[in-house]
Amino acid sequence: MPAVSPSPLQSVQTFRKAFPVPRRFVGRLVQKRSSGEKFRMPSMPKRALATITSACLIACLSLPAWPEGAPTGNASRAPKPSIALPGAAYAALETITPDHIRWHVRYLSHDLLEGRGTGQRGGDIAAEYIATQFAEYGLKPAGDHGTFMQKVPLVGITTLPETKFAVVPKRGETMNLKPLDEYVAFDQTQQPQSDVDAEIVFVGYGIEAPEYNWDDYKGTDVRGKVLLMLVNEPPSSDPKFFKGEALTYYGRWTYKYEEALRKGAVGVMLIHQKQMASYDWDVVRNSFSGEKSYLRLEGPGLKVASWIHFDVASHLAAASGMNLEKMMQDAQSRDFHPLNLGARLQAHMVSKVRNFESNNVLAILPGSDRKVVDEAVVYTAHYDHFGIRPEMPGDNIFNGAQDNATGCGILLEIARAYGSAGARPRRSILFAAVTAEEQGLLGSEYLGKHPPIAAGKISLDLNYDDVKPLGAPEEVEVTGAERTTFYSNVQAMAKEFRLAIRPDARPQAGHFYRSDHFSFARVGVPAFSINEGMKFKGHPESWGIAQEQEFVEKHYHQPSDEYHPEMDFTGDSAMARFGFALGWDAASLPQLIQWQKGDEFEPARSKSQ
Ligand SMILES: [Zn+2]
Repeated sequence: MPAVSPSPLQSVQTFRKAFPVPRRFVGRLVQKRSSGEKFRMPSMPKRALATITSACLIACLSLPAWPEGAPTGNASRAPKPSIALPGAAYAALETITPDHIRWHVRYLSHDLLEGRGTGQRGGDIAAEYIATQFAEYGLKPAGDHGTFMQKVPLVGITTLPETKFAVVPKRGETMNLKPLDEYVAFDQTQQPQSDVDAEIVFVGYGIEAPEYNWDDYKGTDVRGKVLLMLVNEPPSSDPKFFKGEALTYYGRWTYKYEEALRKGAVGVMLIHQKQMASYDWDVVRNSFSGEKSYLRLEGPGLKVASWIHFDVASHLAAASGMNLEKMMQDAQSRDFHPLNLGARLQAHMVSKVRNFESNNVLAILPGSDRKVVDEAVVYTAHYDHFGIRPEMPGDNIFNGAQDNATGCGILLEIARAYGSAGARPRRSILFAAVTAEEQGLLGSEYLGKHPPIAAGKISLDLNYDDVKPLGAPEEVEVTGAERTTFYSNVQAMAKEFRLAIRPDARPQAGHFYRSDHFSFARVGVPAFSINEGMKFKGHPESWGIAQEQEFVEKHYHQPSDEYHPEMDFTGDSAMARFGFALGWDAASLPQLIQWQKGDEFEPARSKSQ
C-alpha cells in the first residue's frame, strides 16, 4: 500500500474511505466456503475487481483503522504509531475499555471495602480481589513461595492520648500542646514509650545538598537535640539551584526526618505553613492521626517525628525572643546558621505498637525472548487508602475512589490486556499492586528493596496514581520521563495518541517524590507516573484546572473521595492504552532504559548494574 499520508494510520483510513470494502462481501465469501457448496470462478472483469478488493481486504485486516483523537475505548480505536508494535499488541490494546475500569473502581471504592486500609480487613480483601484478577488473566504469581502475595513486614504505630508534648520556652509559660490541633507526632523508634527532654535548635530547611552548595547544618552538632525546621526548600527560579520552581526531594518531609536521623537528632518539629506545604493543616491532621504504618525498623529511629501548627511556631519564636517571619527570611540565605532557641521539648510519647504484615500483590508475564526474559518492565499502582476510622463521627470511610481505585483499575485492565494478547514482548512484564502508599510509599519501598527481578535488570517502572475520571484527555503528564533515555519514544507515542505532553502542572508540589515510582527511582530504576493533563475534550483548560483544584480542596484524602455513576472513565482508558503501548515498546527495546547523564538517580542505577 503506497504511503499516501504522513502517518501509516491516515493512509489506511483514507484508503478505506476511497475504497470501502463492504463487510457483507467478506461475509458471503466465507459463507460459501463453509457451506461446502461448489465455488465457481466469476468472469474476467469480476475477477479483476475481486483481486483488487481481496488485496485491500488483506491490507485492512492486518492494519486496524481508527477514527480521530486519543484512543479511549468508547468504540474508538487507537492510531498505529510509528513505533512498531506487533498487531497482537494492538488487538489487545483495543480491548481496553472505560467500563472495565469503572467496574474495578466501583468495587474497590465500595463502602464494603472500608477504604482499603493498610493492615485492615478492607485492604486485605482488596489484595485478594487483585490477586484473583491476576490469576483469572492467566498471569504467573511473582510473590512469596509461588503466590501472588509479597509479605511486607510493617508496624502500626498509634500515638495514644497519654502522650504529653510540652514546649518549655526560654521565657513565659510552658506550652502544653493540644494533639491534632496544635501538633501531630509519632515515635519512630517503634517502642511503646519514649521520653524526650532536649534543646530545640532551629535549622532552617534542614537541608544538606552539596550539589547546590547548600548546608543548613554547617557542621553543628545536633546529636540528641530536637530540630525545628521548615518544610519545602529555599525559593528559587534558577533550574540549576534546587531545580527552580520544581520541588526536589530535599523539600519533602520524609527527607527532613531522614537527614535529622542521619545527624543523630532525637526529634523533629516541622513547621506547617500552607503555601510551603502546598496543602492544608487538615491534610496533616488526617495523614498523621490514627494508626500510621512503618516498615519494620532495622536501625535507629526518631523518638519524636512531628509537625506543629504555624501559630504554635510563631508563639515559640516570640517566647524565645525571636520573630518567626525573620527566622524564615534568614533561612533563605546560604549563610544561614543553626539557632538554639534556648527552649526545650519535653515529650512523653506513648504508643500502641502493632506488628503486622500487609501484601504487595505481584504477577508476571514471562517475556518471549530467552536472552532477556530475566529483565522486565514494571507497572505499579497502590491499592491502599486510609481505611475506616471508627472514632470519627459521620462518614468515616475513606473510600479512595480516585486515589487510587482508578490506578488499580488501570493496572488490572493493562494486566488483562497483556494476559489476553496473542503474543508477548521480549522482556517480562511485572504487575505490582502495592500497599501502604498512603503511609509513606512503604509497599513500593519494600518492593524496590526486595524485587522479584533485580533492580538493575528492570528497564522501566510505569506508575498510575489518582487518574481523574473526567472524560477524554488531550494531554498527558509523564513527569520524569524526560530524565530517561526513553523520552523520545514517549514523545513519539504521545504524538500518535494525539496527546500533548504537559509539563508538571504543579512542580512546586513535588509530585515526582510523592508516588510509588519514586521508590523505584531511589534504587536506580527509570520510573515515572502516567496521568492526564488539564485539557479535556470539549472543555477549556481552565475547566480541567478547576476540577483538579476542587478535588484537592474538597476530596483529597477525605471520606468524600467516592465513586459516582456519572464519572467518565474515558480518560482512564486512554491512559491505560497509552501505558500499555509504552510498556510493550520498552520491553521490546534492544537495551535497558537508563537515566540521563548527571541525573540524581544515575548513581543508584550504575550501582545496581
Ligand atoms: Zn494515591
